[in-house]
This record gives sequence, C-alpha cells and structure tokens, in this order.
Amino acid sequence: MEPADLVIIGSGIACTSTLIEVFNRLIERPADHKFSITVIEKNREFWLGVPYGSRSSINALTITSIYDFFTSKHERTLFLDWFNQNKIELLDWYQQNGGTTAEQWLQRNTEAIEAEDWKNVYLPRYICGKYQQQKLNTLLRIVEEKGLAELTLINAEVTDIHPKENDYAVSYELTDKTNLSLSAAKVVIATGSAPVRNIDLPADNNTVVINNLYDPATEENIQKLTTALSFTKNHDERNVLVIGSNASSIEFLYLLAGLPQVTELINKLVVISKSGLLPYHIINESTSEHLTDNLDELKKEGNYTIETLVDAAKKDISIAVKDGVIVPHIDKIIGFTFELLQPLDEDAKKAFIGIYGMQLSNLFRRSGTDYKTGSGLLHELEKLVLLKGSFDKIECTDNGGELHYTTTDSQQKLTYPEKFKMVVNCTGSEDLSQSSSKLIYNLVHNGIAAVNLSGKGFWVNEYFEAAPNLYVIGPLLGGNKNERIHFWHLENASRIMYLAPYLAECLVP
Ligand SMILES: Cc1cc2nc3c(=O)[nH]c(=O)nc-3n(C[C@H](O)[C@H](O)[C@H](O)COP(=O)(O)OP(=O)(O)OC[C@H]3O[C@@H](n4cnc5c(N)ncnc54)[C@H](O)[C@@H]3O)c2cc1C
Repeated sequence: MEPADLVIIGSGIACTSTLIEVFNRLIERPADHKFSITVIEKNREFWLGVPYGSRSSINALTITSIYDFFTSKHERTLFLDWFNQNKIELLDWYQQNGGTTAEQWLQRNTEAIEAEDWKNVYLPRYICGKYQQQKLNTLLRIVEEKGLAELTLINAEVTDIHPKENDYAVSYELTDKTNLSLSAAKVVIATGSAPVRNIDLPADNNTVVINNLYDPATEENIQKLTTALSFTKNHDERNVLVIGSNASSIEFLYLLAGLPQVTELINKLVVISKSGLLPYHIINESTSEHLTDNLDELKKEGNYTIETLVDAAKKDISIAVKDGVIVPHIDKIIGFTFELLQPLDEDAKKAFIGIYGMQLSNLFRRSGTDYKTGSGLLHELEKLVLLKGSFDKIECTDNGGELHYTTTDSQQKLTYPEKFKMVVNCTGSEDLSQSSSKLIYNLVHNGIAAVNLSGKGFWVNEYFEAAPNLYVIGPLLGGNKNERIHFWHLENASRIMYLAPYLAECLVP
C-alpha cells in the first residue's frame, strides 16, 4: 500500500485547526495528486478533543471570555457572525439539555449576549467545538468533491512511530487490541497535553480514584462520585478530595454546584494545592494604578539576570492578583518583563520560555466569574475546604483514603484528620520522559523526539519538526523558542489556531 501523504495522531482542536488550514491550502493550490490524509484518534469521537466534545460536560465553559478565546480579530468576527446566526437554536438546545446549571448560566448571561459584551461572556465550550467542526466539514466536502484529498479515519491508539527508509511506520492498537501499522510520508503529533501522573491504590481499597476527570467523560465520573457517596452510610465519611487547584478543579466544583442532589451527599470537599487558592476570577477593568514597582526598581539598578528578573516579575504579579486576575494589570507586567528580557542573552530567553514563563503563569491562573459561583456555593454550604500544601500520598484504611501532605509554609508533614471516599486527581501533566502515554514514552526513549527545557513539550525547529517530517502541534509544543514558536504553554486554543496555518505550509508546500 502507498504511504499516506499525511497522518495526524489525535483529532482534537489542534488537528481540526490544522486540517482546516491544509484544506484551505489544497483548495488554493491543489497538489499534483489526490492528497491522502489519515487521522488516528483513540476516542470514538473525532474533531472535538477533550475540552469541546462529549468528554467534557455540556455545561463546561471556556476558560477565558469568548472575546479572548478568539484573539485573532478575523477569526473572532467569523465565529461571532456564525454564533449570532445560530444563537436561538444553540441556546434553546443548551437550555433544554444543560439542566439547572444552564438555566442559571442563561439568567446571568442573556443580557451580556444581547449587548454583545463578548469580553464578559464565557460560553459553553462545546459551542466552540461545534463551530470548528462545521468549518472543517464544509471544507472537507469541497476538497472531496473536487477530488483534491481523501480522508481516512481510524479509531485506535497510536503506540509508536519509527523512521523507515523515506517514511514513518506508525503503529497503532485498535479498540479490540489488534496491532496494525501504516506508512506515512509526514506525521503530525496532535495528542494534546501529556497525561497526569496517576495515583494508583490497591484494587481492594474502598476509595474511588478518578485520575482523569475527562476519561471516559466528566458526567460518568460525577455519576461514579454519586454512587460512591450514596453507598457510604455515615454522612461524616462522605468526603471528597481534589488534588490540585487548576482549571479542571474549579470546573469540577462549578459542575457539582449545579447538581444539588450530589452536593447534598457531600460532607466535605477538600481541595489541596500549594497555593491553597482556586484560580482567580478575571476582572476586565483598566486602572491607573502603578503595578510594576519591583520591575521598575530592577530596571533602575540595571545589571540584572534572568533569575532576578523573574523574581521581580513574580513579586509584581503576586501584588496584582490579590483581588482577582485583573487582565490589563497582568498584561502590563508580562509585557514589561518581556521588554526587560530582550537585552539578556539567548540562553536566558530560552530559559524564560522553557522554565520561568510557566512559573509566572501559575501565579495567575484564571477563571471566569461563572465558575466562581460554583466554588462560592460550596463555600456558602460550608462544604469547601482549601488546604495549602503538597500532596504526598493516599494510604488506604477501612474508613477510606488517608491524605498525607506537606504544608507549603512550614514544610511540616501532616495527616489530614478526615478520610476520603473519593479522590479526584487534578494535577498537571507529568514530564514526557516518564509519560504513561505509550506513544510519548516510546518517542522519548527510542530517541525519536527530544524533550525540551520545560520537560512537558517536545523540542521542535521553526518548521514544527521534532525530527525530519515528524511534526508537533498543540500543548506538546510548549517550552520551545525559535523563529516561529515561542510560547511557554500552548494549552490555549487561540495560539493553536494562530500556529495552524504555518504548520499547514510545512505539510502542503
Ligand atoms: C478540560 C479542558 C478545558 C480547556 N479549556 C480551554 C479553553 O476554554 N480555552 C482554551 O483556549 N484552551 C482550553 N484548554 C486547553 C486545550 O489544551 C486547548 O484549547 C486545545 O483543546 C488543545 O487541543 P488538542 O487537540 O491539542 O488536545 P486535545 O483536545 O486533548 O485532543 C487530543 C486528542 O488526541 C487523542 N490522543 C491522545 N493520544 C493519542 C494516541 N496515542 N493515539 C491516538 N489519539 C490520541 C485524544 O484522545 C484527544 O482526542 C482546555 C483543556 C482542557 C483539558
């Protein structure tokens, strides 16, 4: 069999955005043959990935306002035109299917939607996925009708990629565990963020662990939680532990808050994180306040290093986020930090993108005001406990899992007094060198792709290549600094959409 021109592994928004651009290019300048593309996706659902399809709840919202979801003015206008045209149908469907959470969301947001106040609307995410999918389907119809490309879809997990003469051999495992392989001239890795490090407990324990809220799907996991708590007779033992206070954990709290029958079951919901805080809510106000005292001082003194620059930026950010993430404040501090980075050498710039940028981002993780209502309700019900410390381990006991942790401030090793029936793992991705993804592990340990400074992304050149004709798009690009790609994280749809046309140029010259 002839090798495919292109194989894309993973079919989330990174793949969808890339294919949209590949199709646009083929329509503009057709290849000298029918371009053969194969997409291999391990989930049964194509084109929507983890955030925008059925693995997320339909009530899950965009992390940023819809205005910032599409940072390109052109893309934003296209999206908003489409949304306005389909608004009645989209929102009716949402109202009918989203339960109490949707009803409350509509009450809070109808006025802003009518006023087209897009900086203050956090849309249900699946709407963004639906839009991208429709865009893709329209272009696919055109390229197929014109005979420009053929698209094959395979539902399988890719486990390995190996160079073979002039092509790559892509090995994959079907859902029935059959192992197969195909050849491809070019391969794109679009597998999303690397998996989190699993918390494994002995099989016979009586604590339920959810290592990935989106696997198989959030709603199924909430059902699991409901069952586990309903089977616990003593209400005082119905405790839930959430490890990590990232975007997923605040999303989880928001979804629970819309389900009174579930929140009623919970005795305490403890969120443990180093900061002891949930992501800050975003405030879009401008200010005349001075915000960069520490960076100003550094500039005045001169002779600074990457370490002292990052230290000053951290101090200014910590002051600015006291009452929530005030977007213009943060943009100003980051902008000024970048300005001060410019006189430093290339190694410092690489370290900033590879290591320090992410440290700064972790200081101002954002969430919309809607999500704040979820944690607010649990707080009002006196069920929410924010615990400041690092998770060490869970030990199984007859009454549930026992949390062992280290306090952030005093580095004391402690055991939490209450036991947990349910543990939800919302920690970040593990380093690629230890990844539980067979594909990532094999790529790293067979020397096919190198890990960049961040530990969470693959090194690539400005043509997105981790190796000749082996490309990366999406979160695994984070931590690269070259002429084209210079982001410390790419868990961001807008950046992915921004990069997709450049990748398409490399795929269809
Ligand atoms: C829950 C959640 C919410 C988010 N919300 C936002 C938001 O509101 N705004 C924003 O800008 N960003 C958001 N993000 C960040 C997100 O990373 C990007 O927006 C974007 O979705 C990444 O797309 P992707 O296609 O790279 O990854 P994914 O959506 O993760 O898609 C990757 C796909 O690859 C498949 N896959 C993985 N490994 C293999 C394999 N070995 N073989 C075959 N298939 C494989 C997976 O099943 C998946 O479908 C969110 C992320 C998450 C996880």
